[in-house]
Amino acid sequence: MARSPTIESRCNSCMTSLMDRVERSVKYLEPFLVALAVGLVLLDVFTFFKYVVPEIVRQSGRIVAAVHIVWSLWLLFNVFWNQMHCTFTSPGNTLEVHQEALQLAMSYDWRWCKKCNRGKPPLAHHCSVCNRCVLKMDHHCVWMANCVGFYNYRFFLLFLFYMWVGSAYSAAVYLLHVPGVLRLDDPGWEENGFMPFFMFVLSSSIWLAISLLFGWHVWLVLTGQGTIDYLDNSSRAAEARAAGRRWVNPYHLGPVANWMETFDVWGRWWWIAWVLPTRRRKLGNGYDLKKVDLTDLSDAAVMQAI
Ligand SMILES: [Zn+2]
Ligand SMILES: [Zn+2]
Repeated sequence: MARSPTIESRCNSCMTSLMDRVERSVKYLEPFLVALAVGLVLLDVFTFFKYVVPEIVRQSGRIVAAVHIVWSLWLLFNVFWNQMHCTFTSPGNTLEVHQEALQLAMSYDWRWCKKCNRGKPPLAHHCSVCNRCVLKMDHHCVWMANCVGFYNYRFFLLFLFYMWVGSAYSAAVYLLHVPGVLRLDDPGWEENGFMPFFMFVLSSSIWLAISLLFGWHVWLVLTGQGTIDYLDNSSRAAEARAAGRRWVNPYHLGPVANWMETFDVWGRWWWIAWVLPTRRRKLGNGYDLKKVDLTDLSDAAVMQAI
């Protein structure tokens, strides 16, 4: 009887160390995934200039082709700009914040990370791949080789947005401007049709996958949540419902205010400014986050997030 807890604890520690190793090995895999993503985008650009641009010149003239080139380069620039900034911008972590400031940010909830040996403010989560507590962590992205959190989430969203527009544009031009791209039996298809066909299938598949992912993140932004917080919030809402109360997310400032806060855009042009490339550091500190004032609501009806 006395031996089973020891065996169990040994098994647990073996599993924990195995999981730690698997998670740490992700770090070595990520550069290859980033290179693969960049390589596929560059292959698409090459195919576009080799097969599509000459066809547009032939069909519609040089001016129309120039418009296509400017538009495609704008999309390409934004994809790489946001990918680079998402990869190389620190999402913000608790080791970069003074311990006293963390303590003040946790006025209504004290959370402690044993691995970082530091306080964990609201919406911060420990990433086992990065081995640190990331501020307002959304998720760890292997395609960005970085955690996505407070300071780089907007770059991640803009990358998704431009990939979404870019892959739709890419699929459309192969279909509309390369004659016989879908006529696989035509003589000469292997020489002139294979690459446009391959890129058409790839772009369409990427567009479909990103539609789901980008749509999901748009919904998260509009409802004032992150991917990890969504799971926490769902269980809190269910607990509150079971107790006959209503749970309110204090970080949901309203759809427009959430959008402005996420992209850090203010003033009358916010609705267009969010898509423009920027390298300005996001305002705020990632641990003292904007919240709605819940005092107006009845205490009996509301269960606040912690
Ligand atoms: Zn931690
Ligand atoms: Zn991470």
